[in-house]
Amino acid sequence: MGSPESPAVRDIADSAADQSLIDGVLSRNRRALAKTITLLESTRADHRERAHAVLDALLPHTGKSIRLGISGVPGVGKSTFIEVLGLHLIERGHRLAVLAVDPSSSISGGSILGDKTRMEQLSVRDEAFIRPSPSSGSLGGVADKTREALLVCEAAGFDVIIVETVGVGQSETAVAGMTDIFCLLQLPNAGDDLQAIKKGIVELADLVVFNKADLDPHAADLAASQMRSAMTLLRPHSAHWTPPVLKLSAIKREGIEAFWQVIESYHAAMSASGEFEAKRRHQALAWMWDLIDFGLHERFRNHPGVRGLLPELAAAVEAGGITPAVAAHRLLGLMNRNF
Ligand code: GDP
Repeated sequence: MGSPESPAVRDIADSAADQSLIDGVLSRNRRALAKTITLLESTRADHRERAHAVLDALLPHTGKSIRLGISGVPGVGKSTFIEVLGLHLIERGHRLAVLAVDPSSSISGGSILGDKTRMEQLSVRDEAFIRPSPSSGSLGGVADKTREALLVCEAAGFDVIIVETVGVGQSETAVAGMTDIFCLLQLPNAGDDLQAIKKGIVELADLVVFNKADLDPHAADLAASQMRSAMTLLRPHSAHWTPPVLKLSAIKREGIEAFWQVIESYHAAMSASGEFEAKRRHQALAWMWDLIDFGLHERFRNHPGVRGLLPELAAAVEAGGITPAVAAHRLLGLMNRNF
C-alpha cells in the first residue's frame, strides 16, 4: 500500500476524477464542464496528461455543432450582438457556448474582452455557457486552449459554438482556423473598413456584417456596397460561397434572424459540396502541425547545447561576425546530439 501522496494512489485518484469529469461533461453538467476547461487550461505537465486523456475520451462526442467565429474592433457591438443572437437561438431550441480568444491577455495580462460585465441576460440562461479567454501564455497557447474548450463544449451538447476575438490580425487568423464560418463585424464608417482590409482580416471573412445600422441607415448602405465592391477583388475562399455583406442593429434586434438564415445557408451549401468536412479535416491537420512546430521550438530552446551556444552565436550574428544561416545551421545541428 502506498501513502496517500504516492504516485500510484494519486494516479488512481486522478483517473477516478477524470472519469467523473468525462461523465459530467457528457451528462451536460456545467460544473464538470467548467472544471474540465480549467484542467485543460493548466500548464502543469501532469494536468496536461490528464487533459489529453479526458479530451481523448470526449472526442467521439464532438463535431456536431456549428462553429461560428466573430471578430471586430472594441466597441463595434460584439457582446451586444452575441447576446441578442444567443437569446434568439435559445428561443429556436439551440444551446450555445461562447468562447473567446483575447490577444491582449497574452501580451499584457489584461483583457479587452473579459473585464466588463458582458452578456448579462445570456449568462444566466441554462442553455448558454460563456467562458472568458484563457489568460496566460502566447497567442498560440491561448488559441490552443480555446480549440480544446470548443471540443469539450461540443461534447457537452452545445450545438452552436461562438468564438469571439478582437485583435490585429493574428488572433483573427487563429479563430478563422478553428471555426466553420468566420464573421467580421464592422462599423459603418470608411475608416473601419480600410483598417480591416489593410490588416487582411476581410480576406478571412466568410461573412461581413455592419452593425449599428440604426444610427445612420444611409451610411450603413453605403459602407455595405463599398465593402461588396472591395471584396470582389479578393480571392474567393470557395467555389460554393460568395461572402455576403449584411447590415443589422444588434441593439434594436433587427436583422438577427436574417443573419442566422445566412449561417444556415452557408452550412447547407458547404455540407452539400463536401467542403464543410474538408475544411474541418484541414483544420485538424493544421492544428497538429501547429502543435508540432510549437513542440519542436520548445525542445530547441530547452536543449542544453543550444542554451549554451545560443547567446554567443546570437551576439555574433548581431555583430555581423557570422551569417544568420551559418548560426542557424550550427544550432540546429546540435539537436542531433544527445547530451
Ligand atoms: P464590443 O466591445 O464589441 O463587445 O461592443 P459592445 O457590445 O460592448 O457595444 C459597444 C457599445 O455600442 C455599447 O454602448 C452598445 O450599447 C452599443 N451598441 C451595440 N450594438 C449597437 C447597435 O446596433 N446600435 C447602436 N446604436 N449601438 C449599439
